[in-house]
Amino acid sequence: MKKVAVIGGGALGLISAHFLSTNNIDVTLFEINDKVGKKIKISGNGKGNLSNLNIDKDKYNNPDFVKEIIKEDVIGYFKSIALLTYADKEGRIYPINENAGDIVDVLINNKYKIINNVTISLKRKEEQYQITYQGHTDTFDYLILGIGSNISNNKYSDNFLKDFSFFINKRHNILGPLLIFDNIGTFRRKGKISLVQNNKVIYQEVGELQFKNNQLSGICIFNASYFYEEEKENKIIFEPFNNEVNLLNILTDTFKDNDENLIKSLSGLLPKPLLIYLFKNTPYFHKKVKDLRNDLSSIINIISTITLPIKTISNLGQVQAGGIKATLLNDNLELKDYKNFFMGGEMLDIYSISGGYNLHFAFACGLKIAKYILNNIKQ
Ligand SMILES: Cc1cc2nc3c(=O)[nH]c(=O)nc-3n(C[C@H](O)[C@H](O)[C@H](O)COP(=O)(O)OP(=O)(O)OC[C@H]3O[C@@H](n4cnc5c(N)ncnc54)[C@H](O)[C@@H]3O)c2cc1C
Repeated sequence: MKKVAVIGGGALGLISAHFLSTNNIDVTLFEINDKVGKKIKISGNGKGNLSNLNIDKDKYNNPDFVKEIIKEDVIGYFKSIALLTYADKEGRIYPINENAGDIVDVLINNKYKIINNVTISLKRKEEQYQITYQGHTDTFDYLILGIGSNISNNKYSDNFLKDFSFFINKRHNILGPLLIFDNIGTFRRKGKISLVQNNKVIYQEVGELQFKNNQLSGICIFNASYFYEEEKENKIIFEPFNNEVNLLNILTDTFKDNDENLIKSLSGLLPKPLLIYLFKNTPYFHKKVKDLRNDLSSIINIISTITLPIKTISNLGQVQAGGIKATLLNDNLELKDYKNFFMGGEMLDIYSISGGYNLHFAFACGLKIAKYILNNIKQ
């Protein structure tokens, strides 16, 4: 009987082990952590954002490579194993119970063996693969690799690949917070954000911007961070009113016969820490607003278009850009130089914006590989 080894119990590893084992293939899954599926469980803030209604090749950095893979029916597969899902208004798909742990639970069964908390070594012998762990050596006919990246995983290791030569594109974290120079405080505010690089608008989104001391986050920032480039001058332009409010009318009324100072008078429009940051070095800061009626257009400019220069990208993040070059693989995600050796998911240099696209890709790779191996074994 042919034997399959799966290395890495993440999205790709679990779905391929589940598919093959339920089709009566002998599967052993090796996981370096004490538990499988840790990253799935923290996805979508613990709600498990496993896919998106708007999956499209152009949402990925390498549309040509992903276009056939992402067609795998990931949601259909989950439905077939009784995991029901729903989509929110942005198209993000979650388990109906909004519990990411459900995704992991439905993919674990007793038809395949999970060996966790294990450090392996790997050797290729003719067309088979030998895995040595805890003093044993087992030989496998097929190898599926889905070890992801070191984001949120301090046990991640690719040392066992040292005998194999893979070309790896430089990695960096994306879909994470952006760090700014000033500590503005902690608050949230909806509005339009634009990522401007060397004075060119690269990305725009209307969403909720979260300020936390020197850090900007929120889904709109994570999506903008996808385009961040260290070598360029990056800034976020934040427009909290997005041209939807007639500030001139509002302020003309507010400033009439008003004895209060500027910060107090504007605090229904913007969070106080942001107002203090915007005005503290201006001549308006301590003035009563009734004395500022001639300065309305300058005040409106200050509060409607806020420029936040970016210092760097945080080393937190959801996904790593870079990784093993996709050109090393054929259409079935098999390494061109190593027969019956398959890989996919985040360890490849394939990535997308946030919203379920990255998990979808990893699950789709797992299904594609598993179906191909099953077919191959049956022939
Ligand atoms: C905080 C956070 C939130 C996220 N939210 C979302 C989201 O909402 N939507 C979305 O689409 N994506 C999200 N992602 C990204 C998504 O989780 C990953 O893209 C996806 O899990 C990648 O799947 P994978 O199977 O390639 O790798 P992983 O799921 O990372 O699995 C790799 C597995 O391999 C194991 N491993 C590593 N080294 C070894 C080794 N030497 N031997 C054996 N096992 C090993 C790891 O421990 C891990 O279990 C999020 C990521 C993070 C960190």
